[in-house]
Amino acid sequence: MTATAHDVLPEVSGAPRRLSVLGATGSIGCSTLDVVSHHTDAFDVVALVGNTNIELLAEQARKHRAEVAVTADETKYEDLKAALSGSGIEVAAGTQAVVEAAQRDADQVMAAIVGAAGLAPTLAAMREGAAIALANKECLVCAGDLFMAEAKVQGTDVVPVDSEHNAIFQVLDTRNLDQISRIILTASGGPFRTWTREQIATAGLEQALNHPNWDMGPKITIDSASMMNKGLELIEAFHLFPVTVDQLDVLVHAQSVIHSMVEYEDGSVLAQLGTPDMRTPIACALAWPRRIYSPSPRLRLEEVATLTFEAVDNDRFPSISLCLGALSTGKTAPTILNAANEIAVAEFLSKRLAFLDIVRVVELTLEQASRVGMIAPMACLDDVRAADEYGRSTAAEMAATL
Ligand code: NAD
Ligand code: MG
Repeated sequence: MTATAHDVLPEVSGAPRRLSVLGATGSIGCSTLDVVSHHTDAFDVVALVGNTNIELLAEQARKHRAEVAVTADETKYEDLKAALSGSGIEVAAGTQAVVEAAQRDADQVMAAIVGAAGLAPTLAAMREGAAIALANKECLVCAGDLFMAEAKVQGTDVVPVDSEHNAIFQVLDTRNLDQISRIILTASGGPFRTWTREQIATAGLEQALNHPNWDMGPKITIDSASMMNKGLELIEAFHLFPVTVDQLDVLVHAQSVIHSMVEYEDGSVLAQLGTPDMRTPIACALAWPRRIYSPSPRLRLEEVATLTFEAVDNDRFPSISLCLGALSTGKTAPTILNAANEIAVAEFLSKRLAFLDIVRVVELTLEQASRVGMIAPMACLDDVRAADEYGRSTAAEMAATL
């Protein structure tokens, strides 16, 4: 992957970039609009897409003078229309309207919908020629080959927003891509880093939602507690960067100051550092290859004083091996894993599943998929959809048995 396509984007200091934000009302979406609010001359907001939080979506649309505001939830159409009446801002609702919003003429699209639901609109934006600032990791996990192949066909510039991948993107020496020996993703270890497996078994919702360093949406926060997030990120890294599965490593780094590293054949290790605030990678992705100001706090290493590193404990956190296994199996395995995880996390968030059963449901779903021959090659988006639906329904069945 190279940054060359950025060269054709309007400069952030020149004509305003036309920017759409998919998932505007979420954690990444709000941080994106916060960065944008410091650069009102550099960005024209085109489409803002949200789901159930109509009040916030309408407020954002008015503040940023969006051309159109779209809710994925069809039942909320009248509410959104009422909230934006007299503003001159177009309103739409439903899954197809989300895709159409993504297809609006834009230079750049922030893909920050959570889950596999982000795939179709992000691909649609790509096909219309927009550069993609990619926060939604699930679309790479469930359709990485197809997604990156489409990016290649379209000549799309995909800049990762996920802090680890954005770090790697920044330190990747594109002249020496064949000299990479390892990519090392750092992991905070989440709220249960020091807990025994017995303690983790008793973890409740509030404890799992209590991330020590990052303030994020609920799904990724639970994924961080189970460390499934790191497993998904390994799959994400595999698709974004020119490495094999064996070249992917994870290192637990509790302070979340080093956001990831690349080791080269000469022994050099290049890292990107910063405070744990997503507005830094967001600003980087929005402005690349230039830099713009981000309101994130500055890193003061003398205040951090100590940086620590540990190996991952695969017994307490089996999700990472599960993800690496699915990545090695390939075909529909990561798609089914992702879908099962989305269902299991939703069940945990609704207090219908115990914490350790999240990973158990994913494991059981993959085992069942393998037994019935559902781990099959994936040639098109319909194959992705079928595997996703299979993973969801099987995971729901598995969750009901636990
Ligand atoms: P979030 O739950 O805070 O926000 C999700 C957004 O998606 C909301 O705007 C919601 O309205 C919208 N949405 C949900 N379902 C939708 C649907 N079916 N159709 C259209 N829109 C829908 O999530 P988040 O934490 O902002 O994460 C967004 C994505 O970014 C995820 O894929 C996550 O893994 C990734 N990410 C987040 C962070 C972070 O710090 N929050 C860091 C790295 C990567
Ligand atoms: Mg991350």
